[in-house]
Amino acid sequence: MELRSRLAKYVVTALSLREVPTYYRTDATVALCWIQREENWGVFVNNRVREIRSLSKKEYWRHIPGKLNPADIASRGCTLQHLLQYGWWKGPEFLKAFPEAWPKSEFSPNQELIAAGMKKKIIVDLSVKIEKPEWFERLSSFSKIVRVFCWMMRFVNKLRKKPSYGTKTLTVEEKAKAEIILWSIEQKKHFHEKENSVHGLQVVRGDDEVLRVKTRIIERDDDLSFLYPILLPSKHYLTECLIREYHLKYCHAGVQILAAKLRLQYWIFSSERNIRSCVSRCVVCKRFTAKALITPPMQLPLDRMFAIVLLSCVALATSSGIQQSQPYKFGYSIKDHHGEQHREESGNGAGSVVGNYGFTDDRRIARQVNYVADHVGFRAQVKTNEPGTANRRRGISND
Ligand SMILES: [Zn+2]
Repeated sequence: MELRSRLAKYVVTALSLREVPTYYRTDATVALCWIQREENWGVFVNNRVREIRSLSKKEYWRHIPGKLNPADIASRGCTLQHLLQYGWWKGPEFLKAFPEAWPKSEFSPNQELIAAGMKKKIIVDLSVKIEKPEWFERLSSFSKIVRVFCWMMRFVNKLRKKPSYGTKTLTVEEKAKAEIILWSIEQKKHFHEKENSVHGLQVVRGDDEVLRVKTRIIERDDDLSFLYPILLPSKHYLTECLIREYHLKYCHAGVQILAAKLRLQYWIFSSERNIRSCVSRCVVCKRFTAKALITPPMQLPLDRMFAIVLLSCVALATSSGIQQSQPYKFGYSIKDHHGEQHREESGNGAGSVVGNYGFTDDRRIARQVNYVADHVGFRAQVKTNEPGTANRRRGISND
């Protein structure tokens, strides 16, 4: 339509017919509404409507029924004979009549198509959906959840006067059954089975009403739970508790070990991501994998540099003594506002050396290394009262 507007403008300008009213007709009812209506159209529609309106007046745009539209034949295609008979060269007959006899613009456009040209509105829903927490979300341990569920089942069975376990404590069989029922309930909430398939996974529902994944190794002679693992929902509280339970059971095992161990019985959607997320939240693992804080060494003050030069001289003097294999003994202690440091060493001249050195800072935190070097070898022991170092490394003791 914008091409038609450009052509009409060109012809009107070329023939100097500016004062003569120019009528435009189209059988595209939706486009006609876009031109005539004042709406907030989308970018594509708005650019074209703006150009058409700049070249023509919107009031002069009229509708023409498809049967009378001579341009329609060009888009539909026809034989040459039909084209000659159609009278495309003369134009429609009603143009020869007075404007009062022209076809009326009566049409009922498709409102949905018209609305499709409007600017898309982005609606953001800020409402917060508060879901009622499940009963087991009060408990953080999977085994505890199962135990509580066992007692609930016993209570319900008693009310219904059904036969129940007569023991005072829970049995292994009872807990296994409770776990199966628990998973069965949660699966019904989260998975919608369709033709034995859940999210593209082939599943089977056993007699215990639990969905199990039909793996490709079912022909193998193996444990049934490995061949048909229980399908667990991803990002589910119970699944997270189960992963955490396995993580603790296998001594804070890593992602790969956990994935292998869980796979023996369960099939978790996005298992690696779930396990990684669970392991990354373990405080104990985080503590042991944390990197030590490294600070750049500070420049020594002038008074301490003097002490280092003095020590070097003493060390040189004593080292020459050791070379001569004579008994020796030396030591020093320096105190300043930073703390106290000391060193003692003695040798028997026969290759046996006993000594210690240490430093006590201004917070009374002491670190001392006692060492012995003889024909057995070199042995050292670190002693410190620094808080938090107890039982961290062998050889460090907290006095
Ligand atoms: Zn851990």
